[in-house]
Amino acid sequence: MTKNSSSPIERRGFMLVLSSPSGAGKTTIARKVLEREKDLTHSVSVTTRPKRPSEKDGVDYFFVNDATFTKMVKKGKFLEYAKVYGYFYGTPKASIEDLLLKGRDSLFDIDWQGTQQLKQAALNDLVSVFILPPTLEVLEKRLYHRAEDTVEIVKDRMSKAQDECSHWAEYDYVIVNTDLEESIQKVCSILQAERLKRRRLIGLASFINTLRESSFEINEG
Ligand code: 5GP
Repeated sequence: MTKNSSSPIERRGFMLVLSSPSGAGKTTIARKVLEREKDLTHSVSVTTRPKRPSEKDGVDYFFVNDATFTKMVKKGKFLEYAKVYGYFYGTPKASIEDLLLKGRDSLFDIDWQGTQQLKQAALNDLVSVFILPPTLEVLEKRLYHRAEDTVEIVKDRMSKAQDECSHWAEYDYVIVNTDLEESIQKVCSILQAERLKRRRLIGLASFINTLRESSFEINEG
């Protein structure tokens, strides 16, 4: 049974996917949305990419080596996985179905390949948002400003950014991240609206029945 908000109607949860070319601000937006939306669960991915100095194992990612990742693939531990910028990234299956049944929403920071796989597996439970930079110059500045990757990595990511932008049409929503605060607000608005989607309100019929069957007295006072 859904315990979020003040709604008395039982609801199915959904998976909110955020994707973007590297440096468009998606990870910052995701972090801020998670801080504000206490009911939202963060899906922590598994990756073979080396940890950046500011990252924490188990919080930003589960950092594993190639052999462990391959083992996990063989054991069917991933909901989806893909090779991005030369490293493997995967979403653990964990208890996603359980969360959906409990009316809990989860946030996924994954690339377009992972989004396509999730779409095939669970289209109706997916809400996808694509985040674009206002200009390529802004993207480059953000990548260098982060200063956690080598110049080679930044160059590689820049060269792939334009290709990645071409995936916008595969998403439900597109946000141009000109102003960080506005972009966070937009993602929060999407969450609010998607929580009201009729098909997610699995307790709606019984709620309406209760309303229709309730007796009332007209107070002529
Ligand atoms: P970064 O190395 O900058 O943290 O992430 C690189 C890219 O990998 C980003 O586009 C990010 O969204 C994507 N990514 C992170 N985790 C996953 C995952 O579990 N699956 C997929 N398909 N992509 C991921």
